[in-house]
Order: sequence, then structure tokens, then C-alpha cells
Amino acid sequence: MRLDGGCLCGNIRYSIDSLPIDAGFCHCKVCQRSSGAPVVAWLTIPFAGFSYTGGTIGVYASSKDFQREFCSCCGTQIAFRAKSQPKSIDITLCSLDDSSQVAPQYHIWCQSSVNWLHVNDDLPQFMDSGPDGP
Ligand SMILES: [Zn+2]
Ligand SMILES: [Zn+2]
Repeated sequence: MRLDGGCLCGNIRYSIDSLPIDAGFCHCKVCQRSSGAPVVAWLTIPFAGFSYTGGTIGVYASSKDFQREFCSCCGTQIAFRAKSQPKSIDITLCSLDDSSQVAPQYHIWCQSSVNWLHVNDDLPQFMDSGPDGP
């Protein structure tokens, strides 16, 4: 499976050449603050199948175990990496050129969900990182 994506300004381009592991919505406070949005949809893929193909990436260590990667020009958040899980990387689903190719399957960190966001899909909702979380 080949997926391509990039940032708002076109500086960052990336490609994915592997089957996704999974995808889900994250309602955590760090995702909210780093995006300014109530929820961020993430696509988890094997790290070996991911490569930046253009641009200059900025890196922010949101804690000693986690880092977020973004376009250093326009600020679009592209990736999330956990030191405890070096074999996978999370990509913002909506930075894909065609975000409809993979659909989220769950919600995590619902304990931080804003009270005016009403989720009424049938996906499982976890208060914490869920069964696959770090
Ligand atoms: Zn950009
Ligand atoms: Zn999050």
C-alpha cells in the first residue's frame, strides 16, 4: 500500500510504503494543544515503511519519551514518535493527500474529551491509551 502526504505549505512531503497498523482518534490534551483542535486522527504505520521525501522537519520533544514532528515553515503537525515504540510511527491522518483511504477504528484518551464534542459513531472509546497504547 502506497500513501503520500505532506504539510499545508508543500515544504514537507512524505511517503508510506507499507500496510497501516491501525488508525484512531486521540482526544488527549497534548494533541489538542499541539493542533488547536478537539481531536486528532492518527495513522500508525511501521517505521520502516515511512520516509520523508522533501522539506525541513522541525522536532519538538513533548516529553522525554515522546516527540512531535512538524513542518518548520507552516507548522503542520506530521508525526508522533514514542521512544518506547521505535518500530512504529504515528502520522496525522489528515496530512495524507487522500485521507479517506484509511478510517479510524477507535477513540483514545476520552477522559480529556471536550464536553461540547459529542461522538456518536459506534467505535470503541477508551478513557486512557487503550489496549495498544504505550
Ligand atoms: Zn509546511
Ligand atoms: Zn493524543
